[in-house]
Amino acid sequence: MNDTSSGLPQLGQWNDMADVQRLQEKQLPQTVAWATRSPFYRERLNAGALPTTAADLAGLPLTTKQDLRENYPYGMLGVPQERVATYHESSGTAGQPTPSFYTEEDWADLAERFARKWIGMSERDIFLVRTPYALMLTGHLAHAAGRLRGATIVPGDNRSLAMPYARVIRVLHDLGVTLTWSVATECLLWAAAADAAGYRPDADFPALRALFTGGEPLTEARRKRISRIWGVPLIEEYGSTETGSLAGECPHGRLHLWADRALFEVYDPQTGAVRVEGEGQLVVTPLYREAMPLLRYNLEDNVSVSYRDCGCGWGLPTIQVLGRAAFGYQVGTAKINQHRLEELVFSLPDAYGVLFWRAKATPAQLRIEIEVPDEHREAARAELAALVRTAFGVDSDVVGLSPGGLVPLSVLTSMSDVVKPRSLFGPDEDWDKALLYY
Ligand code: AMP
Ligand code: MG
Ligand code: ZN
Repeated sequence: MNDTSSGLPQLGQWNDMADVQRLQEKQLPQTVAWATRSPFYRERLNAGALPTTAADLAGLPLTTKQDLRENYPYGMLGVPQERVATYHESSGTAGQPTPSFYTEEDWADLAERFARKWIGMSERDIFLVRTPYALMLTGHLAHAAGRLRGATIVPGDNRSLAMPYARVIRVLHDLGVTLTWSVATECLLWAAAADAAGYRPDADFPALRALFTGGEPLTEARRKRISRIWGVPLIEEYGSTETGSLAGECPHGRLHLWADRALFEVYDPQTGAVRVEGEGQLVVTPLYREAMPLLRYNLEDNVSVSYRDCGCGWGLPTIQVLGRAAFGYQVGTAKINQHRLEELVFSLPDAYGVLFWRAKATPAQLRIEIEVPDEHREAARAELAALVRTAFGVDSDVVGLSPGGLVPLSVLTSMSDVVKPRSLFGPDEDWDKALLYY
């Protein structure tokens, strides 16, 4: 199944990390040579001899997100504009944007990394891409990976008027979509939208084989719940717009770093120490990246990296994305974090139908709102409050909202009127729709 035409390393071509390290060391001089072509690294590297080994590389300062922002738009670019295939910006950059560039060759590496799904992707798949295409990498990434494997792509996008949830459900059902790519929260929204359309997620979508998700933290409890709702495996992915896919799940359910395609380090911001494993911020040196070379780029994601063997035999390190898991808000004497709270909400019995929640933590009170049907409201409220008390040792104010209280039913069922711009209308037509292209 592996497409080896790119000439890049492929799963199965090495036995252990020692082999992978040889692949890394072999490519590194090329990576560094590419880096010297960008204005940013030309300046940074001009002082001394160019690093040629991982040990040399460790002598370079980390590249930060701030470096990317300060060098917007073209300061990180290492190839002539004629060779740039796509330009992207990372999400959540309200201020100065974080730019990313990729050449056509860079795209071969990107697409192959994303395509490493243990369940396989082939020309028999119908693949719904339901992450944003605008500026970000994610939609284009999945799209390219699906094309590489010959799948039929359904470009569903996200945050687009053209693709409301009712349309997603119609497509999932009528086309017999086999694979999807989205944030995990989408899979819950689809479950509610399917229900609103009169479908049962586990019974009325028999073609579905797996849900690919990434982009947001996901607890074990929520992952298992989503998997039970749809009756298929959820296969997780970790990556970013600046790097593409960095890790993917193996058949044993662990996330493996694509160490054949990038060098990984773990940075402890407290001590400044950098190690190959353990807990800290993930630092990445993509090895096959020409348009925007990155040497020791600090993604600033809190992770835990391990080189312990995994039964899958991929021979790659594993990573746990801790994200902001440790970050919490004080309520009384307890520190409340989203990760543990999510675990509790999704450990409520499935029958209660609680999919959507939010919470507000103040020093005096923890207020949790859940959407729950009338018949389960009392039980769900009482059980969640008890779980919170046991886990955090604080009382909480759990409010049961009717379905629609957090995610309005109209969001799940409405079909927006997306039309081409138009200026001339007939006597019986609504000319308030004139120029409606926004
Ligand atoms: P973006 O910069 O918009 O491309 O989003 C990338 C960021 O999303 C990463 O740096 C992580 O913080 C987060 N992310 C991506 N995948 C995961 C995942 N599987 N688990 C937790 N966080 C993730
Ligand atoms: Mg980001
Ligand atoms: Zn594994």
